[in-house]
Amino acid sequence: MFGGDVTTEHGSGVPRPGRLTVLAGPTAVGKGTVAADIRRRYPAIWLSVSVTTRPSRPGEIDGVHYHFVDEATFDAMTSAGELLEWAVVHGRHRYGTPRRAVEEVLAEGRPALLEIDLQGARQVRATMPQAFFVFLKPPSLDELVRRLVGRGTEDSEERARRLRTAEVEMAAEAEFDVSIVNDNVRRATDELVSCMGLTTAESH
Ligand code: 5GP
Repeated sequence: MFGGDVTTEHGSGVPRPGRLTVLAGPTAVGKGTVAADIRRRYPAIWLSVSVTTRPSRPGEIDGVHYHFVDEATFDAMTSAGELLEWAVVHGRHRYGTPRRAVEEVLAEGRPALLEIDLQGARQVRATMPQAFFVFLKPPSLDELVRRLVGRGTEDSEERARRLRTAEVEMAAEAEFDVSIVNDNVRRATDELVSCMGLTTAESH
């Protein structure tokens, strides 16, 4: 855990229910897998569904994993101020968090989680400094590289691009309230849930 204490200038440590938690970290650290584990085992936590201009991958469901939109729709959403944050990730596609859904869930007092990249996390910190920022990190950079190459869904140029992004992103750990090592997905998810001030007994 960062600094051995969750209290930082950003907030009061253990978040209240209904507080926004932002999960970020380097490429291929397994943020998406942790988010999927949250979706499966902790339905009480509301997980934001991002909009993206990237094409869907096999098995991804529109409206569940992402809202897949075209460039014009994304443009319209940014101009209308509908996104809480957005970023070009890996120098390619745009990803953003629809603002209204987050605001509605927080107003209901439900715990909400964003799984986004570092640029997005910085934007949220600028506009919602009371949010709780969690950095998911690999056991080591070597392990991160293994995961990056092992995933096999990108070509070699894309992998090299993602690795460069990952090295820069690893340096951002100190900006976060807490760090969680993703050595095991289930363990990391449970640590995240307990950092959110929720009981892991909700798990099933
Ligand atoms: P992928 O294309 O593999 O699903 O995701 C690529 C990256 O985009 C991941 O690092 C993920 O955290 C990030 N990402 C997903 N949704 C959002 C979003 O709404 N905003 C930002 N800034 N990044 C996002």
